[in-house]
Amino acid sequence: MEEKRRTIGYVCPSCHQSVAADRSLFSLSVGHMKLPCPCGKSEFLVDYLEGGGYQFSVPISSAFPAPPAERLIR
Ligand SMILES: [Zn+2]
Repeated sequence: MEEKRRTIGYVCPSCHQSVAADRSLFSLSVGHMKLPCPCGKSEFLVDYLEGGGYQFSVPISSAFPAPPAERLIR
């Protein structure tokens, strides 16, 4: 039986790197899943909703504001 897979991901609000993971629909459908950023300052939460569908949430922390513009210029 073919297993469908989804790639999910987000951009970390703290370190601005993209975090992605490939998960099967089965593992998504078991309920709750966490996808933490390697920097440890944010995580992507996925909740499976009854009736099909997913709720995604990415906590945005005001403790880690965007870096000043001069730090973005290399
Ligand atoms: Zn990060």
